[in-house]
Amino acid sequence: MTDHTHADTLRTPIVAVLGHVDHGKTSLLDTIRGSAVSEGEAGAITQHIGATDIPLDTISGMAGELIDPSDFDLPGLLFIDTPGHHSFSTLRARGGALADIAVLVVDVNDGFQPQTEEAIDILRRTGTPFVVAANKVDTTPGWNPQDGEPIQRSMEAQSERAKSMLDENLYEIIGQLSDAGFSADLYWRVQDFQKNIGVVPLSALTGEGVPDLLTVLMGLSQRFMKEEMAIDVTGPGEGTVLEVKDERGFGATVDTVVYDGVIRNGDTVVVGGQDEPIVTEIRALLRPRPLAEIRTEKEFEKVGEIGAAAGVKIAAPDLDQAMAGAPVRVVRDRTVDRVVEEVKAELAEIEVETADNGVVVKADTLGSLEAMANALREAEVPILRAEVGDIAPRDIAVAETANQDEHKAILGFNVDLLQNAESDLENADVKLFKNEVIYQLVEDYERYVEEKQRAQQ
Ligand code: GDP
Repeated sequence: MTDHTHADTLRTPIVAVLGHVDHGKTSLLDTIRGSAVSEGEAGAITQHIGATDIPLDTISGMAGELIDPSDFDLPGLLFIDTPGHHSFSTLRARGGALADIAVLVVDVNDGFQPQTEEAIDILRRTGTPFVVAANKVDTTPGWNPQDGEPIQRSMEAQSERAKSMLDENLYEIIGQLSDAGFSADLYWRVQDFQKNIGVVPLSALTGEGVPDLLTVLMGLSQRFMKEEMAIDVTGPGEGTVLEVKDERGFGATVDTVVYDGVIRNGDTVVVGGQDEPIVTEIRALLRPRPLAEIRTEKEFEKVGEIGAAAGVKIAAPDLDQAMAGAPVRVVRDRTVDRVVEEVKAELAEIEVETADNGVVVKADTLGSLEAMANALREAEVPILRAEVGDIAPRDIAVAETANQDEHKAILGFNVDLLQNAESDLENADVKLFKNEVIYQLVEDYERYVEEKQRAQQ
């Protein structure tokens, strides 16, 4: 064998958006997607597959004078489309977070709220670099939108009254970041984004400040994360399942973010499954056609291969048991058994303890299931069964077998009740709790138990 060095190439950094409910995560993602699409560049594809790729060209088209594309050799930014901190903390890559960078969205009028604090804790614990998007600056009384201007200049153009109100709110957020142990400042005053958190005032509604945010994320990745972005582009692909979806003509498919190596059509892959890892062969790699969203068509284009970091839909036999949050690994240069063991080891890190009695828990990803289990353990609520996926008839049947009334309950985090389970639920003595916020779900359940106990006394 000849000794050869791998051709390392820089991959796209993966970005997650998190923050308190209603602070504007979804709107920000929509605006980023929308402006990339209206920039009209071929690469700016709205993916329909859980991740949006914004190439450097598009960013520089949006950011105008803010950015000199020749300063960059990273290809762009890949945004994970599902907002919320479960998308950050519960989507993993080799035990770490799938996202390389985070955008913490804070409503400039509302400041820090419980989920902002939770997000900050997660970011601190994982040592993830982040930027704060101080959103909704347009709600400042007397705000005068300055189309296409960088946010700093836009702020300078406001009335004295608007300026001082906005300043006050921004300094409040900077103070709250400092209380949380982060030194922070308005982004144009920050020199070293590793030591200081950049705060980008913006409006997801008017789009002001959004190019500035993209520029800051690009700069931060280029200056401080280049080494982590260097990958062997020919290596066996590794990714994380975002969602398992039935797709007409293809059966069960997995929307995947590929964070390392390359995945090719026809590759044998191992995917984390509900019982055992699934070993299967890729039948098609699918990406939405460029600008598909504008034409409101749901069309996919088959691609021969996909390199990190990118989102792709994988069609292959036997994927119906695949789990969101589970690893996807290409088998190449190694045996299938070896890769199966690797996938098992990765899944074993996510452990949910179940008991002979307790509630049924359903969650959208493996990581969120684990987060639910942790929250329930703290609240001393036992778990009878915990699974990834929507709420199905058999979950109701299982919940009914609980031998305490208060445990005849299903707690669904970010999942739906399947249509064919609706009548079962009506006929069963089972209480369903659904929420997209873990602590609220647990609180709702605890309140229910208290009321039940009070009624029995
Ligand atoms: P999420 O829960 O964090 O995803 O928040 P959403 O994106 O759903 O936004 C919550 C509400 O705030 C919606 O009614 C949005 O229209 C509104 N909103 C979001 N961003 C802005 C903004 O920049 N300006 C204004 N005025 N409203 C906004």
